[in-house]
Amino acid sequence: MSKNKLILNAVLAGMLSVMAVSTASAATDTYTQTKYPIILVHGFASSDQVLGFSTFYNIPDELKKGGAKVYAAKLSGFNSDEVRGEELIKYLDNLRATSGYEKFNLIGNSQGGLTTRYVAAVRPDLVASVTTGHTPHQGAAPADLIKAVLPEGSPLRPIVAGVINTFASLMGGKADALAALGQLSSSGAAEFTERYPQGKPATACGEGEEVVDAVRYYSFGGVGVATNLLDPTDLSAQAASLTYLGKPNDGIVGQCSSHWGTVLRDDYFWNHFDSVNQTFGLRSMFSSNPVTVYRAHANRLKNLGL
Ligand code: CA
Repeated sequence: MSKNKLILNAVLAGMLSVMAVSTASAATDTYTQTKYPIILVHGFASSDQVLGFSTFYNIPDELKKGGAKVYAAKLSGFNSDEVRGEELIKYLDNLRATSGYEKFNLIGNSQGGLTTRYVAAVRPDLVASVTTGHTPHQGAAPADLIKAVLPEGSPLRPIVAGVINTFASLMGGKADALAALGQLSSSGAAEFTERYPQGKPATACGEGEEVVDAVRYYSFGGVGVATNLLDPTDLSAQAASLTYLGKPNDGIVGQCSSHWGTVLRDDYFWNHFDSVNQTFGLRSMFSSNPVTVYRAHANRLKNLGL
């Protein structure tokens, strides 16, 4: 064999062993391999997908790469926590019956966090953990403003409700938009928490019990508003943020309002949309990567045997 052939063979053998190692490591990556499947629960004015992509942009794929089983529930986008919660119970009961899963790790974004709390409160047998991201547990100031502008009995109320509900029905699902918005106000959120207090913080900006009815409770939130000027959703975050009169918020939800159970972190430099890696990953280059944060949380659940 010539010297050149020997070198070529050595190079090829080296390449093959590198390929074998990388294939093996892909197959054995179990970083996010939780015992129970992860269920992603979308919020208000949303669905499981946006423009054909996951609402939790790129997050399910990256969780799956580490061995997690991931499902995205599709619930009514404009409805109360109870209606959406009952939809989620049906979804989980069905998944349990067809796939044999015993319990689920629920991760709810925004109003999705209230939906997951409802399910954990009324059907704790279905739930291993509840994690809420940027959820208005104490209500959201923009919803308070809408409630003030459109009080009960206002002649404008049925007109606005009709417009929003028509838009909502185009997205599929049942809609009762003003009822849902009422629940996202401070008083609506307080009434909801009175009915379903599991994991409620002991003080207004504190933490709640880590485990209630064998369900673990976690939350995270952020304080970014204008984070990437190329992202058109930054404009809505900036406009809605004005309702906070300078108090820390993510454009839609106040920093302390995001607290529930164990607070993992409440000051990510993310606005409301960045928290699910939208739009298409556009966020501040100096902020944490939501995909990395979701993966790390799945690893936390895995290490707890969940
Ligand atoms: Ca963004």
